[in-house]
Amino acid sequence: MSTPHDPSLRERLAALRGPGTEARPLDARALAALAANPGCRRRALLDAAGIDKGAVAETLGAPARFGQSRFAFSRGHAFEARVKRDGCAELLRLLGVAAEEDGGAAVLPDLGAPGPAGRVARTRMALAEAAPGVWTLLDHPLLTLDVAGSTAYLEPDAVAIAPDGRWTVVEIKSFPILDGGADAMKVGAAARQAAVYVLALDAVEPARTGTDVLLVCPKDFSNLPTAERVDVRRQLAVTRRQLARLTRIEEIAAALPEGTTFDLGYAADGRTVTRPRAELSAAVDTVPAAYAPECLSACELAFHCRDRSRDDGRVDALGRGLRAELGELTTVESVLAAAAGLAGDPDDPAVAALRRAAELRAEALAEAAKEGAA
Ligand code: SF4
Repeated sequence: MSTPHDPSLRERLAALRGPGTEARPLDARALAALAANPGCRRRALLDAAGIDKGAVAETLGAPARFGQSRFAFSRGHAFEARVKRDGCAELLRLLGVAAEEDGGAAVLPDLGAPGPAGRVARTRMALAEAAPGVWTLLDHPLLTLDVAGSTAYLEPDAVAIAPDGRWTVVEIKSFPILDGGADAMKVGAAARQAAVYVLALDAVEPARTGTDVLLVCPKDFSNLPTAERVDVRRQLAVTRRQLARLTRIEEIAAALPEGTTFDLGYAADGRTVTRPRAELSAAVDTVPAAYAPECLSACELAFHCRDRSRDDGRVDALGRGLRAELGELTTVESVLAAAAGLAGDPDDPAVAALRRAAELRAEALAEAAKEGAA
């Protein structure tokens, strides 16, 4: 979940969500996705308000096949339960702690407390009171991170405190490590998520947390847990920089037209949406987006934003690399006009390259026509 510091902003965001609608938690996965596209005010606002973007996309008629399937979700839970059974025996083994019968010892403090604030306080206490000389393992601690004026609550799978006092983030994933290697995309996503946890721990005490996190996965095609150390220094630097670039939520909220709401108008059964699609679509489109093809694997609103981007003829839909190369030419129309010599500064390298490409194309077509006529 995410809690704005300012009570009036809290009320404003609750109104955007709709009366009686529970806020969706803002987790490390969502924060990592947000950090990957810091220019998107739409996602920043909807996430800060705890709005169910999947339900919004569904109502807009543009549901994205995105996120974990129910099967993957339960497989992940079952694997984590296996790693943590018998007092986290497997996890401690993977951390290098000797088994109890061999003289190894680890402390597993109880982190239970009512409400998120209580759980955060228990976590902080456990971090501060970990005894030197022994391992301490925090199972599902609760951490906070300040994001654009809101407090996000984050729950890593575990945090290990080594006898020398160093903290290590533990990420448990159900994708396999095959022959010592795993799917690079999945490892990258896990690393970005873990980097968010490292940032949250740095907020408790700077430089105490190792930048190599422990990634625990099933070994080969078995269900046997194995672990790899993953260096997240790069992801940490990127996430820190990108989160700092986020526009403050109050600023985005203040720019909304009076009366804007993303309320889906749930009927009494709590499931049926009564908000007309066109009305919701207009509300969503009042918040500027920054669509890029990467959104397709990271955001529930991707299909809606892609359609809008294409409707507006924006070049963003063609990819960030191309978008950057085209500089001030932000629409397909302006690109075609520049290529045809009808617009654009000829000294602009993008315009010059487009004109040269258009000339080469015309020459090639003329050549082909000549050959066809011969
Ligand atoms: S899909 Fe839309 S809302 Fe989501 S990050 Fe991309 S541009 Fe922003």
